[in-house]
Amino acid sequence: MTAMVELIGVHKSFGSLHVLRGVDLRVRQGEVTVVLGPSGSGKSTLLRTINHLEKVERGTVTVDGDLLGYRRAGDRLHELREREVLRQRTKIGFVFQSFNLFPHLTVRQNLSEAPRSAQRRPRAEVDVVVARLLDRVGLADKADAYPHTLSGGQQQRVAIARALALEPKVVLFDEPTSALDPELVGEVLEVMKDLAVSGTTMIVVTHEIGFAREVADTVVFMDAGRIVEQGPPSQVLDAPEHERTRAFISKVL
Ligand code: ADP
Ligand code: MG
Repeated sequence: MTAMVELIGVHKSFGSLHVLRGVDLRVRQGEVTVVLGPSGSGKSTLLRTINHLEKVERGTVTVDGDLLGYRRAGDRLHELREREVLRQRTKIGFVFQSFNLFPHLTVRQNLSEAPRSAQRRPRAEVDVVVARLLDRVGLADKADAYPHTLSGGQQQRVAIARALALEPKVVLFDEPTSALDPELVGEVLEVMKDLAVSGTTMIVVTHEIGFAREVADTVVFMDAGRIVEQGPPSQVLDAPEHERTRAFISKVL
């Protein structure tokens, strides 16, 4: 089966700091990939290269057949215009640690913004989609609330619903529960499990090992800009081959 997301030989540096050192990753449609690794290993940079928030220096990123940021002409790559990159990016949902909701917009407006402005879909149609998404994340009664009146867990569920509003091909999550009080983590993980079960293609950076064990098809362990090890949770979490993976997992369990 062809990959929904494919990274081949991806390198990324910030100045002299070589952050991604040749990353190869394939995520098939409907699969959940959990990315683990110590702080600074390049996990956020990896996600940001997937939706072209970071440009890669070497290698390619393909999402749903689109070469991110480029058009291929023969054996040459031409950089795409910003507008074309934005169109590619509508296929990729992104959920951040810090929610990043628009504070001056209501929940409904937060969800409607992209489908209305990026896709120019009619209001009546968008209203139906938004109502369905809010129901799905258990927040149908909060449509007219402003973000600051919601708990962190509710805000993150709004952010997940917003990420789904453009019907993305893949949703990227960067430590979606790390900023939450412990008692609010569960409600967000439940929503994510529901997405996973219903066949959403997801790449999730998290330290929630329980989630990885239960939901992931593939667990990827990153260290120092490389994928050290990857495989099903039973292999990577319970019988890691590499000493660095073992050391990391024994610390987060
Ligand atoms: P992780 O998410 O695994 O903690 P990151 O991808 O955020 O790791 O960062 C990897 C390394 O790249 C870190 O050393 C970080 O300081 C550095 N880095 C990330 N973004 C930038 C940036 N925009 N400019 C300079 N250095 C950065
Ligand atoms: Mg990070």
